[in-house]
Amino acid sequence: MRDPNLVRKEMLEIAEVLPFVATSSDAEALYTIKGDIINMAAPKLQNFALNGVKCHRCKLEGEYFAKEKYPTIPFYHLNLYGMRNGRETQMLRDFIVAIEKGGTDSLENQQTICFNCHKKQVNPPADLEAQRRKRAKKRSENKAKKAAGEVKVKVGEKKPRRI
Ligand SMILES: [Zn+2]
Repeated sequence: MRDPNLVRKEMLEIAEVLPFVATSSDAEALYTIKGDIINMAAPKLQNFALNGVKCHRCKLEGEYFAKEKYPTIPFYHLNLYGMRNGRETQMLRDFIVAIEKGGTDSLENQQTICFNCHKKQVNPPADLEAQRRKRAKKRSENKAKKAAGEVKVKVGEKKPRRI
């Protein structure tokens, strides 16, 4: 999955990006990369530099960066992508302990996750189980209604034929 609003200028190798990520507060943050000023202290870049480019859940590996921007914003930023079944999948950063559950935004509390696993994680397993039960209930109700309905239809159809 890739954000359709992003305008892409070019792709960069991992080795062209990660060694230049500013991970300490005294490091220079703005670098010119192939003619564009990039904030190399962006939190997601720091996460990739320190915690790796592999999804911690499915092990999909980030393969390249893309220099991208939103049309209304003058600056480019770098997004990391991996490939799953020939489709581009954006790599994101994820909090080990969610901020709303008291986690901090420190790099130690972060890990790399792919878009697909992140999407699954947004619906926690408890919710998924509740949804599954709701769907199963609905299915059996529909089945019962259908069965009742089918009986009526069959009776109605058969009657004219017999006449
Ligand atoms: Zn994943």
